[in-house]
Amino acid sequence: MITRDDARAVRLAWAEGEIEVEQQQQPALGLAWEGWRTEPRNRHGEWTRLSGQALLGGLLSRARDDGAGKSSNGASDKEMQASVLGLTQKTSDGVPGMFGRNEHLDFDGKPPRLFDPAADPGLLADIDWNGHMSMSTDVASGIQDGLRHTDQPIAVPGAFTVPLHEMIHATVPAGQKRSTNGDKQAYQDYAQAQIEEGFTELGAIQHAKEFFTTAGIGDRKVLDKGSLEQQQHLADINGEPFVPDLSAHRTMSAMADELNDPARIRQGRAWHRYPAQTAQAFEWASMIAQMRTGKGEDDPATRREIQRVADEVNAVGTAAKLYVMARHVNGDMSPDEEKTVMPVVEASIRDNWKQGAGAQVTFATARTVAAQRLQALRQSERAAA
Ligand SMILES: [Zn+2]
Repeated sequence: MITRDDARAVRLAWAEGEIEVEQQQQPALGLAWEGWRTEPRNRHGEWTRLSGQALLGGLLSRARDDGAGKSSNGASDKEMQASVLGLTQKTSDGVPGMFGRNEHLDFDGKPPRLFDPAADPGLLADIDWNGHMSMSTDVASGIQDGLRHTDQPIAVPGAFTVPLHEMIHATVPAGQKRSTNGDKQAYQDYAQAQIEEGFTELGAIQHAKEFFTTAGIGDRKVLDKGSLEQQQHLADINGEPFVPDLSAHRTMSAMADELNDPARIRQGRAWHRYPAQTAQAFEWASMIAQMRTGKGEDDPATRREIQRVADEVNAVGTAAKLYVMARHVNGDMSPDEEKTVMPVVEASIRDNWKQGAGAQVTFATARTVAAQRLQALRQSERAAA
């Protein structure tokens, strides 16, 4: 049940930072943007596999008492914070470099504030507009557990992509701050928030392997419960003692490669977060990439270009993403023309994205709008000359 106080607390938190709230709960919390549409969870009915417990209740309890968490593995808050801090210290310098040369991270580099996961629905982490990260104790304990038991497979691999997702949000051009560059305002707009989350999660999928390598966990094995159960089952049938064979388990790097797959991304089966938004961002990136290479999606050059397109969008904050996408539609005009035409193109992309139009329709509409505006502008310039 969500009380009015709860809803108010969530709205406050929503306005203050980028919180990851399960889509279906947003209307109940008064987070509805204009043009709200509910969306199904991924095909497994899960919001996330991160132990299935990182939930909005955590945000509510955080809003109420800034609550200290209890970890599922018995680690203290200090231990969890130290582990997450160790991970972000190791990786944060490398994150802006994933997206270009001039980017920097608007992240304070402090230990995360922890909050307690409770009942339905989902919140994993957030990074506020001053660059401070908060994290569910479910996610933090997954990271702590994985980093501490280096002799065992990692049980919650997805936990490690949560800080990556948050740091991608915080990646902005040099000299910018998200609190003052318009990102905070832009995120209150439905379409721009969808674009922000979709591309951010796409970036986390595409850069997970690189991130794991920098974190020093790329070669670590991922716990494969299915395979262990099967081994146990076989041992039972054969009446043999159960000796787990971990060689069958894949590594974190192999898992990252496997999940960075067009079919999985389209089905929301990569890291199981923001499935619809990520699929829509991917469609855009793939379409632009195919136009640039002149080759199909499976071509290696196109695959590299898809990541490059997503990187271009992720290299800027929330507010400037529409501009980058508008440049994808039409980058061929003078700076003066751009000033007149680009805002119209951005508005067109935003309107179509809001209505859930696919990438193709959004692009085609925006291209028509751009051509018409440019033609009108050039005609009026000729008339004046
Ligand atoms: Zn996010």
